[in-house]
Amino acid sequence: MRAFAPSSTGQRAIVAILLTFALSSAVSITLSIWATSRAQHHAAVIQVAARQRTLAERYVKEVMLVRDGRKADPHYTGGLLAQSADVLLNGGTAPAINGDDDETWVPRTEDPSIRRQLEQERRLVNDLTATGNRLLEGRPVTDIPLTADERIDLTDPVERLRIISTLTSNVSLNAARAIGATSDRNLGQLIIIQALLGTAGLLVTLLLALALIAATRRRTAHFRSIVSSSTDLVLVLGPDGCRYVSPSVARMVGLGHSSMAGEGFMKFVHADDRATVLSAQSSGSPTELVFRMRNRFEEWRHLEAHVSDLRGDRQIRGVVMNARDVTDRIRLEEELTHQAYHDGLTGLPNRALFRDRLGHALALSQRSAEGVAVALIDLDGFKQVNDSLGHDAGDELLRQVANKFGAISRPSDTLARFGGDEFALLLEGCSENEAIATVRRLLTELAHPILLHKRELALGASIGLALYGAGTESSEELIRHADVAMYAAKEAGRGRIEVFRPEMERRLGETLGLEYEIRVGLEREEFFVHYQPEIDIRTGAVVGVEALLRWESPSRGSVPPSTFIPVAEANGLIIPLGAFVLGAAVNQTASWQREGLLPDGFVTWVNLSGRQLTRGMSDMVEECLAAAGLSPSMLGLEVTETAIVQTGAAGELARDELQRLHARGVLIAIDDFGTGFSSLGQLREFPIDLIKVDRSFVQGSGRDGKDAAITANVVSLAHALGLLAIAEGIESEDQLRAMKELGCDLAQGYLFARPLPPEEIRRGLVGGDWSQLRAA
Ligand code: C2E
Ligand code: CA
Ligand code: CA
Repeated sequence: MRAFAPSSTGQRAIVAILLTFALSSAVSITLSIWATSRAQHHAAVIQVAARQRTLAERYVKEVMLVRDGRKADPHYTGGLLAQSADVLLNGGTAPAINGDDDETWVPRTEDPSIRRQLEQERRLVNDLTATGNRLLEGRPVTDIPLTADERIDLTDPVERLRIISTLTSNVSLNAARAIGATSDRNLGQLIIIQALLGTAGLLVTLLLALALIAATRRRTAHFRSIVSSSTDLVLVLGPDGCRYVSPSVARMVGLGHSSMAGEGFMKFVHADDRATVLSAQSSGSPTELVFRMRNRFEEWRHLEAHVSDLRGDRQIRGVVMNARDVTDRIRLEEELTHQAYHDGLTGLPNRALFRDRLGHALALSQRSAEGVAVALIDLDGFKQVNDSLGHDAGDELLRQVANKFGAISRPSDTLARFGGDEFALLLEGCSENEAIATVRRLLTELAHPILLHKRELALGASIGLALYGAGTESSEELIRHADVAMYAAKEAGRGRIEVFRPEMERRLGETLGLEYEIRVGLEREEFFVHYQPEIDIRTGAVVGVEALLRWESPSRGSVPPSTFIPVAEANGLIIPLGAFVLGAAVNQTASWQREGLLPDGFVTWVNLSGRQLTRGMSDMVEECLAAAGLSPSMLGLEVTETAIVQTGAAGELARDELQRLHARGVLIAIDDFGTGFSSLGQLREFPIDLIKVDRSFVQGSGRDGKDAAITANVVSLAHALGLLAIAEGIESEDQLRAMKELGCDLAQGYLFARPLPPEEIRRGLVGGDWSQLRAA
């Protein structure tokens, strides 16, 4: 859009033209004023000089009159002569001659040759009046020293006086003429200067005007080249339809500009997107949109457009769309969404899709009052098959089981694989008895032997069934109830079906007795944190650590987080536990930092559960960082996809909380990526810095093409969004190589180091050698 902005080159040229005009006019006017005032002064000087002649003649006449006994005042006239001669030389006010003229101001004469003439005149006036005075006194005049060097041989006093008077007149006239000549010369010079100045001003103005025209041409050409050579698609839409399309649009559609004009453009827009495009055209909003356009191969391309409302701009008078072809990115997202919704091994829906369908079913059943049931099926004896016959046999078995179950369930049911040997079945529109009958058939079908590697295998399963009751439960709760029922079925002996009853849950909690022990364990400081290094896959340098919670229970020994974290999440103890991990990790990092052990960009990552986010924790994080004196950019938080894509108030709270933390500089990672994302489109809206590819894909990538494809897609999606990708759970050199080839930026796993106590991490940071820590 910059091309539409007025160019500053043009503005500068206009300003320069105006300045040149002003400057040359000012100089010209000043010169004229100066010249006029000088001309006035010159006129005064010439007048006074010329007057001297008259005065000299009058003086002689008056002397003669007095000598003849008549009345006259030659002394006064002599005084005027002397005074005027002085003024002509040194400047001043020339006296008025009675009735003749006024007093005149005369400048001092600077020209040396004129000065010489005026000095001579002054001396002649002196001699004239001296001779006149003697004559009047009746004394001889021949012995008067002549100051002006006149050579006068005559002895008659009157003749002598006349000669001196004539000399005075001549000198005065000569001086007046010389002054007139210099004034004319000055005037001539002035005319030349004015003419030169005018011509120069005209020239400069012309040059600047040319520069202005060139700049305008360049700007237009620049805009044209931007629009025509860029891969961006530019459209200008006015009230009468399409006004302009860039050549790239015409190329894409395969038609000329004219066929796109007016209503023509809309024919290429997908019918479902027309309303949005029309709205942008008529109102300038939405300002960002994605719409589909048909190209010359009859293919729908997705264009992501930015809309600038320039209807008020007199040159554009329309809405400008800058669009980019994002079809590849959208296909990638769709593919990834499909993969994220389905289990790679069996092609069945996964837990995320199951949860989604269950949500819909529950919403529907609230209106139709039809029953909804969830069955969780855990195969008995699968682990033995896997261990004795190998992974491939295990995979094959799971595929056959999936086929069997698929044959039994109705098209309206959803069969899903939750991972491992766990399947789930969603039954819609059925009673309790019908549900039980269906899952019983699953058991019967399983009992028919399966042929695997030339061996016949008969399997059993434990099934938990939960029915949607009073309309109060969420989909998550219903799944948990089915889980509890399945646990009860296992406890009661294999090959059984149990239907969930509330007292089961209580009994389960009591048998586990974990809640109480976690509470006490926290008080007795049985919990501590281990750290697992994260490596830059290209350089091998340690760039961060993940903090992992550990529990050494006096009665149970070391309890894995996978056992106690779900319990803590269910009963709320995750809040104090999470606060403990955060405090420990932040303080530990600050202490390493004070020792100067941490490289630039080092980040300590802490796992968060969704429960913590919805409770609001950004203030707590900030206080914790401030207390330890640690920069927010050295702390990262890992959240799972499910925590932030939840719908409803809880999801919103979690997202707000992340946004707030991110704004304060804390980094955010999505953990276990690929195991259940409901909408990848949303990913773009979250404040994320890092994507952690789930361990199952990383470890499967070596054997399973599908896992490698998912990993590759996740990595390219991360990069497309400007994020980093980390592969977790790397155990072998083969896996590392695969991850490197797929473009992962960072890596983490037993291959580099196990989660370690802080002293060992410190040793690694000091020595820079982690190799001996692999076996730890
Ligand atoms: P996670 O966030 O996916 O953590 C990575 C898990 O993978 C850790 O298990 C780690 O020990 C393990 N691991 C790392 N490298 C390898 C490898 O090369 N091979 C294999 N097989 N495993 C590897 P861990 O410590 O048992 O933690 C399990 C889960 O418990 C974590 O999964 C995380 O979801 C949760 N968790 C652990 N600490 C915390 C915590 O402080 N807060 C919360 N909310 N959850 C935590
Ligand atoms: Ca993690
Ligand atoms: Ca993980």
